Amino acid sequence: SNRQAQRELVSFNNDKANQGKFDFIPTEQDLREAIDKKQLILYYQPQINMKTECLHGAEVLVRWLHPEFGLIYPDKFIALAEQTGLIEQLSEEVIHLAIKQSVHWQKLNRATRLSINISAQNITSLKLPEQLRMLVKKYEIDPSMIVLELTESALMDSEVTSLDIFTRFRLKGFQLSIDDFGTGYSSLSQLHKIPFTELKIDQSFVTNMKQEKESMAIVETCIMLAHKLNMEAVAEGIEDKETWDLLSAEGCDIAQGYYIARPMPADQFDKWQFNE
Ligand code: C2E
Ligand code: MG
Ligand code: MG
Ligand code: MG
Repeated sequence: SNRQAQRELVSFNNDKANQGKFDFIPTEQDLREAIDKKQLILYYQPQINMKTECLHGAEVLVRWLHPEFGLIYPDKFIALAEQTGLIEQLSEEVIHLAIKQSVHWQKLNRATRLSINISAQNITSLKLPEQLRMLVKKYEIDPSMIVLELTESALMDSEVTSLDIFTRFRLKGFQLSIDDFGTGYSSLSQLHKIPFTELKIDQSFVTNMKQEKESMAIVETCIMLAHKLNMEAVAEGIEDKETWDLLSAEGCDIAQGYYIARPMPADQFDKWQFNE
């Protein structure tokens, strides 16, 4: 069947050996078609509470299931979406799919907090906030089950009004996360202007912390900063037990990375359990 073929294609492309084989450089028209033809699909990567070792939530990561080229990763099309303005429709689609999945999991008594990546352009108008408000109402979602992730670099580029829009999300009960923290150049005063609920330490520091004392120092400082500002500290890019143990000793709250699980389609996420 078509579904079966899709699944095979996904697993084929999930195989590291097959990645990078195709040199597909999408155009604006390709991406527009992908959105219109519903070729965007969502993967979910588990996040674990380091103290309880329970599931904390999942990050929603978009993929493009191209009929010819297979699974395309966001590094191939998010920048294009941002440059062409298609990011508006793309984010709309991602949010809609994520909320429908969230409703489904809620019905199965598997309510899962979902972290959704948004771009700086998404908060230059009231379109996305309005869409989110409507969806939350329509599907009766608890907004605290939705985390909006904005990268630190997006924060730097943003206008005062964007920051204001982002703050309004918090007032409506959504959680706010500052992603890739430590790689941008936002000032601490900017950080404290927006009521972020979590701080995601950039994975470059997490990757290097076990062999490089400077990265270790940055990770420690980020965790301390998060806690002093009443935020949860999230580490992404954890690839081994040694890094997990170091982060746990530092009091990091939430863990995400290949050591725990790779991002996966919803049906796999349903069956997935930590420590099994
Ligand atoms: P991000 O938000 O920082 O997401 C984390 C990225 O790190 C994901 O890559 C994830 O698959 C990868 N990752 C997770 N654990 C590990 C690990 O242990 N080791 C390594 N090496 N990598 C790990 P992905 O899915 O390719 O996404 C890349 C970026 O694309 C994301 O970075 C985010 O900035 C952007 N993105 C993804 N989905 C969306 C979306 O729906 N909307 C927008 N605007 N951006 C998105
Ligand atoms: Mg993210
Ligand atoms: Mg990140
Ligand atoms: Mg990133």
